[in-house]
Amino acid sequence: MKAIQLIAHGSPGKFELRTLDNPTPAPDEVVVRVHSCGLNHLDLWLESAGLPIQVPLPRTPGGEIAGRIEQLGSAVTNWKVGDAVAVQSNLFCGECEFCQHGEESVCLRGELLGVSRDGGFAELVAVPARALVKIPAGLDFNSSAALTLAGSTAMHMLTNRAQVRAGDWVLVMGGASGVGSAAIQIAKQLGAHVISTGSTEPKRQLAFQLGAEYVVDSSDANWPAAIRKITNRRGVDLVVEHVGGDVLVKCFDCLARNGTIVTCGATAGREVRLNLWPIFVKQQRLIGSYGRNRADIQATLEWAAAGKIAPVIDFIYPLAEAPAAFEKLRSRMVLGKLLVNP
Ligand SMILES: [Zn+2]
Repeated sequence: MKAIQLIAHGSPGKFELRTLDNPTPAPDEVVVRVHSCGLNHLDLWLESAGLPIQVPLPRTPGGEIAGRIEQLGSAVTNWKVGDAVAVQSNLFCGECEFCQHGEESVCLRGELLGVSRDGGFAELVAVPARALVKIPAGLDFNSSAALTLAGSTAMHMLTNRAQVRAGDWVLVMGGASGVGSAAIQIAKQLGAHVISTGSTEPKRQLAFQLGAEYVVDSSDANWPAAIRKITNRRGVDLVVEHVGGDVLVKCFDCLARNGTIVTCGATAGREVRLNLWPIFVKQQRLIGSYGRNRADIQATLEWAAAGKIAPVIDFIYPLAEAPAAFEKLRSRMVLGKLLVNP
């Protein structure tokens, strides 16, 4: 089978299109023929050695997989060859105290598909059968791959880690990103008034098209003032944050009393200074959100099949051109998702 492998870290890293032996499934695994695989910031961190773990190379990146089961391991009984599946890329043990409560994203023995084992920028990939999620009828592979990771991350943030009540004001940072584009649609479906941000005019237009009532220019350093003005100085009830650094600190400047910031990333910086005074005086919350559970993926794909959320796909690359997709994501000139079709 063909696979794109990272053979040297860097920015850009060094990739090679290689011909490898087909994977053999362990007893509890299946082999999936990959039809589509989404690219994420996690892949860029792998490329540039920006993860807090050592990853041995070569490695096949790619965690946001949609495809069909090609081969079953000897102990797999609840799936069949040909089933259309998405994959929970937060691989989990299924046995620890968190997994037993369905909280796979904080599994004590969690691994990342495409980081600690080979992922989906390949024609075939072996994954544990317990990580599979059925793709609902009527949803194509590219739509599934565009939502499996980014969309379900937003679903986890808005319906598991935090709650949205009808009428709430929700601020979605970076509305043209994978997480942001899904978060706008999910918050809207839950009855919220959505404000979003975008650093360029095309990104702001996309956020409007997805359902944001107001979109603020985040390249203006004083953007929190615009949010306060829109909400009559009250502030928003919930911020969906995935940028980190100074952006997260500024989110507190536009947060209402009893408001919550839920954050799932820190591409712009992992260490910040926080003023604790307003946090306790205004009873505010900062909540972490890591990955997703299979339940979040299932809900996301079912909402997509029902037409409640739609993927935003920027561009689809053939497998051999996957390095160009990395380049494009690094450029930050992306509207929605970049996909690779092996
Ligand atoms: Zn576990």
